[in-house]
Amino acid sequence: MKKIPLTIDGLDVTVDEGMSVLEAALQNDIYIPHLCYCPDLTARGVCRLCIVDIGDRELVTSCRTPVERGMVVKTKTREIDKAIRPVVELLIANHHISCRGCPSSGHCELQTIMSHLRIDRRRVRRLRLPEEEKPLDTSNPCFDYDPNKCVLCGICVHTCEDIHGVSSLYYVGRGYGTRIAFYGDEARCAACMKCVERCPVGVLLPRNSPAAEAQSKE
Ligand code: SF4
Ligand code: SF4
Repeated sequence: MKKIPLTIDGLDVTVDEGMSVLEAALQNDIYIPHLCYCPDLTARGVCRLCIVDIGDRELVTSCRTPVERGMVVKTKTREIDKAIRPVVELLIANHHISCRGCPSSGHCELQTIMSHLRIDRRRVRRLRLPEEEKPLDTSNPCFDYDPNKCVLCGICVHTCEDIHGVSSLYYVGRGYGTRIAFYGDEARCAACMKCVERCPVGVLLPRNSPAAEAQSKE
C-alpha cells in the first residue's frame, strides 16, 4: 500500500493512501469530533462536526476528504469552533438533560465531543425548549428506541441499508420533530443488532436488557 505523508496540527504523519483525513487523524490519536462516521460504512458527512481546515481557510468534512501528499491539516481553528460549537450545543439542548442512569454514559460519543469542546452545560440549559419527555418506541421486536437521546446521525439507518440492502429503519417527521422509526414489519428486521451496537449515543436499547429495563423505569 502506498504511503502518504501529511501534517495534522503540526504533527508529521504517514498513512495509507485512500484513507480519509478523519481516519488519518484518529489513527494518530488526534481527535476530531464526529457522530455519523462509522469505520465500515460509507462516509456521508451528515453531522458535519468533523470539519477541518486544509489550507487557505478551506473547511471540508474530514470523513469525506482523502489524504493527499503534503497536505497541511488544522483541526482546531476559530472558524471551525464557530461552525461546530452551536451545532453541538443545540444537539445537547435537544437531548436528555442528565447522563445519570444512561447505559451509554462513559462510552458515549456526545460526551466525548462535549468534553473535547469544553461545552458549558449552564449555557446549554438556557437553550433547552420546555418540552415533555417523549415515550420509548417499542415497536421493534428486539430493541427499544429512546427519541429523547437520538442525535439523528443516521448510523442505524445506513447500517441496516448497507448490511441488508433495505433498511428497516427510516427518518420520520421534520425539524425538531424528526426521529427514527421502524417499519413495524418483523419479517423485515433480521434481528442482527448491528444498529444497536453502532449507535454512538446508546439510543437503541436491546429488549429486556437490564439497561433497557432501568431506562423504562426512569
Ligand atoms: S437489528 Fe439488524 S435488521 Fe433489524 S433494524 Fe437493526 S440493523 Fe436492521
Ligand atoms: S438511533 Fe442512534 S444511530 Fe440511529 S440516528 Fe439515533 S443516534 Fe444515530
